[in-house]
Amino acid sequence: MKCEDIQKELKAFLDNDIDDQKKAEIQEHLDGCPNCSKDLEQLKKLSEALHTWKGIEPSSHLYEKLKSRSNPMNRSGEKFSHTFP
Ligand SMILES: [Zn+2]
Repeated sequence: MKCEDIQKELKAFLDNDIDDQKKAEIQEHLDGCPNCSKDLEQLKKLSEALHTWKGIEPSSHLYEKLKSRSNPMNRSGEKFSHTFP
Protein backbone atom coordinates (compact mmCIF):
# COMPACT_ATOMS: atom_id res chain seq x y z
CA MET A 1 0.00 0.00 0.00
CA LYS A 2 1.11 3.55 -0.70
CA CYS A 3 1.38 6.25 1.93
CA GLU A 4 -1.61 8.02 0.40
CA ASP A 5 -3.74 4.92 0.85
CA ILE A 6 -2.55 4.50 4.40
CA GLN A 7 -3.35 8.09 5.31
CA LYS A 8 -6.87 7.66 4.02
CA GLU A 9 -7.37 4.61 6.22
CA LEU A 10 -5.75 5.97 9.36
CA LYS A 11 -9.01 7.26 10.82
CA ALA A 12 -10.73 3.94 10.35
CA PHE A 13 -7.65 2.22 11.70
CA LEU A 14 -7.79 4.35 14.81
CA ASP A 15 -11.50 3.77 15.30
CA ASN A 16 -11.07 0.04 14.75
CA ASP A 17 -13.59 0.41 11.94
CA ILE A 18 -11.67 -1.82 9.57
CA ASP A 19 -11.25 -5.48 8.76
CA ASP A 20 -8.39 -7.49 10.24
CA GLN A 21 -6.54 -8.02 6.99
CA LYS A 22 -6.43 -4.34 6.17
CA LYS A 23 -5.49 -3.54 9.72
CA ALA A 24 -2.53 -5.90 9.47
CA GLU A 25 -1.47 -4.30 6.19
CA ILE A 26 -1.61 -0.84 7.70
CA GLN A 27 0.22 -1.95 10.83
CA GLU A 28 2.93 -3.45 8.67
CA HIS A 29 3.28 -0.23 6.70
CA LEU A 30 3.38 1.85 9.88
CA ASP A 31 6.20 -0.28 11.25
CA GLY A 32 8.33 0.58 8.26
CA CYS A 33 7.18 4.14 7.62
CA PRO A 34 8.02 6.83 10.20
CA ASN A 35 5.98 9.37 8.25
CA CYS A 36 2.71 7.51 8.49
CA SER A 37 3.24 6.43 12.10
CA LYS A 38 3.85 10.06 12.97
CA ASP A 39 0.58 10.98 11.31
CA LEU A 40 -1.16 8.26 13.25
CA GLU A 41 0.25 9.68 16.49
CA GLN A 42 -1.04 13.13 15.61
CA LEU A 43 -4.43 11.79 14.67
CA LYS A 44 -4.55 9.88 17.93
CA LYS A 45 -3.77 13.01 19.94
CA LEU A 46 -6.32 15.00 18.00
CA SER A 47 -9.05 12.46 18.55
CA GLU A 48 -8.22 12.25 22.26
CA ALA A 49 -8.39 16.03 22.48
CA LEU A 50 -11.76 16.04 20.75
CA HIS A 51 -13.10 13.43 23.13
CA THR A 52 -11.93 15.50 26.07
CA TRP A 53 -13.55 18.56 24.58
CA LYS A 54 -16.88 16.87 24.16
CA GLY A 55 -16.84 15.92 27.84
CA ILE A 56 -16.62 19.52 28.97
CA GLU A 57 -20.01 21.22 29.11
CA PRO A 58 -19.14 24.92 29.59
CA SER A 59 -17.02 24.87 26.43
CA SER A 60 -20.21 24.86 24.33
CA HIS A 61 -20.53 28.57 24.98
CA LEU A 62 -16.99 29.14 23.83
CA TYR A 63 -17.62 26.96 20.84
CA GLU A 64 -20.58 29.09 19.79
CA LYS A 65 -18.39 32.13 20.11
CA LEU A 66 -15.66 30.61 18.00
CA LYS A 67 -18.18 29.44 15.44
CA SER A 68 -19.70 32.89 15.01
CA ARG A 69 -16.26 34.40 14.81
CA SER A 70 -15.16 32.10 12.04
CA ASN A 71 -18.38 32.69 10.14
CA PRO A 72 -17.53 34.64 6.95
CA MET A 73 -20.86 36.50 7.18
CA ASN A 74 -19.87 37.91 10.55
CA ARG A 75 -16.27 38.50 9.58
CA SER A 76 -17.19 40.64 6.60
CA GLY A 77 -19.96 42.38 8.55
CA GLU A 78 -19.66 45.99 9.63
CA LYS A 79 -20.22 45.15 13.33
CA PHE A 80 -16.65 44.14 13.99
CA SER A 81 -16.72 45.70 17.44
CA HIS A 82 -19.39 43.18 18.42
CA THR A 83 -16.95 40.27 18.20
CA PHE A 84 -14.25 42.28 19.97
CA PRO A 85 -15.92 44.08 22.87
ZN1 LIG B 1 3.80 5.63 4.69
